[in-house]
Amino acid sequence: MKKVKIIEEQCIFCGQCEAIIPEVFKITDKAEILLEEIPEGLEERVQEAIDACPTDAIVWGEETTS
Ligand code: SF4
Repeated sequence: MKKVKIIEEQCIFCGQCEAIIPEVFKITDKAEILLEEIPEGLEERVQEAIDACPTDAIVWGEETTS
């Protein structure tokens, strides 16, 4: 499964990603990822959040084989 992460230095805490997929992103005064690994069914919406992020702060991490 894929991992996703937020580059905190680039995040402006706008909340866009959380609005798109609150199962994965939680934005308060910091940017949190709620799921260690992203189930396949959620990948498309995570990609949507990546595309919507105004500062390109969300990136895919390395894929695990299990
Ligand atoms: S959309 Fe990008 S800039 Fe906005 S809160 Fe999410 S990670 Fe941060």
